Amino acid sequence: MKIETLLNIVKEFGSPVYVYDAAKIETQYKRLTSAFSKVKQLKINYAVKALSNISVLKLMKKLGACLDTVSIQEVKLGLVAGFNPQHIIYTPNGVSIEEIETVAKLGVQINIDNLSILEQFGTKYPNIPVCIRINPHVMAGGNTNISVGHIDSKFGISIHQVPHILRIVENTGMQINGIHMHTGSDILDIDVFLYASEILFETAKNFKNLEFIDFGSGFKVPYKEGDIETDIEEFGEKLTVRFKTFCKNYGKEITLAFEPGKFLVSEAGYFLTKVNVIKQTTSTVFVQVDSGFNHLIRPMLYGAQHEIINTSNPNGKQRFYSVVGYICETDTFATNRRIAEINEGDILAFKNAGAYCFAMASNYNSRYRPAEVLWYNDQAHLIQKREVFDDLIKNQIEITL
Ligand SMILES: *Cc1c(COP(=O)(O)O)cnc(C)c1O
Repeated sequence: MKIETLLNIVKEFGSPVYVYDAAKIETQYKRLTSAFSKVKQLKINYAVKALSNISVLKLMKKLGACLDTVSIQEVKLGLVAGFNPQHIIYTPNGVSIEEIETVAKLGVQINIDNLSILEQFGTKYPNIPVCIRINPHVMAGGNTNISVGHIDSKFGISIHQVPHILRIVENTGMQINGIHMHTGSDILDIDVFLYASEILFETAKNFKNLEFIDFGSGFKVPYKEGDIETDIEEFGEKLTVRFKTFCKNYGKEITLAFEPGKFLVSEAGYFLTKVNVIKQTTSTVFVQVDSGFNHLIRPMLYGAQHEIINTSNPNGKQRFYSVVGYICETDTFATNRRIAEINEGDILAFKNAGAYCFAMASNYNSRYRPAEVLWYNDQAHLIQKREVFDDLIKNQIEITL
């Protein structure tokens, strides 16, 4: 996006504000579908948890995507955005059987990730086909919090428990229509994907009525200069060959599914903040912006490095700064980072702010969650209002003391 456009959005909607570039989302979507253009039945299930605004979901629908959801609330957002329940898959973890039943009754595809629920659900609803989330035990992922496929992970049913799955399927007479894995985010190496997918193919052979195999996500996108990203094109070529061989041996053309979140929306997002104070200590130049981990927690939670640009002085002399927030707790966005010379009042843009940024925002320090703007067809569309004081107190109950 053009810097002037970002600055105009701040002028119009105030700061801090999240901005998403619809064209970038579309580019990423098309990159993924082109990489797998030789697959006859391809399904892209956008992972709602990355960025769950209904206008973004509508954009995904327009592009041809389906949805991957992890809670009944995400399912409902998808329905509000106009998705057909058949185009939503629900992959919960540690959720009650009641919630799973409710979602199943909406007509949404259920993906089950533990033996207990599998047995309960299969006993009660043998005629509702379900997908099974397998844990292939592949160590992957950029951070232990988002690496979900390893041996001691809480996600999925272990491949070593396939015999137990088969016994439950036989005993209940339930139908398994899909096999799924999601090994974690930020996978660097496509060989890791391919290795895990071989395990998934092996597992899939045990089930006779599959309609799809869902390879989850974990595509890496560049965050800082020099970062390598998943080579989607090469991965597409390699997995396509393997998938076609699988379908041939399986004796049926089935659907290949993915559920990317970050890949589709991360780079489309910018988080714009205003510099409140510049504070020079004995060792550091602190730049304090009108935000904190209440709005963007990834640097503090995952050590994520979001590139920061000074949109008010993009060609200024590069200097070293530590960019921090206004929360009354340590909230460091960036330490000793080279940024074009900053003055109080400047607007800083955090890049890669599309995925897991607004979605994780909170009201800590009783601050309002920011506004969100979708830049679509050369126009700024407000898609989430900035909160106001009433939002902070509307659910609070004042008792008489
Ligand atoms: C979070 C999640 C995704 C999306 O992961 P990204 O790294 O954002 O692409 C996909 N599937 C499941 C089940 C998830 O929990």
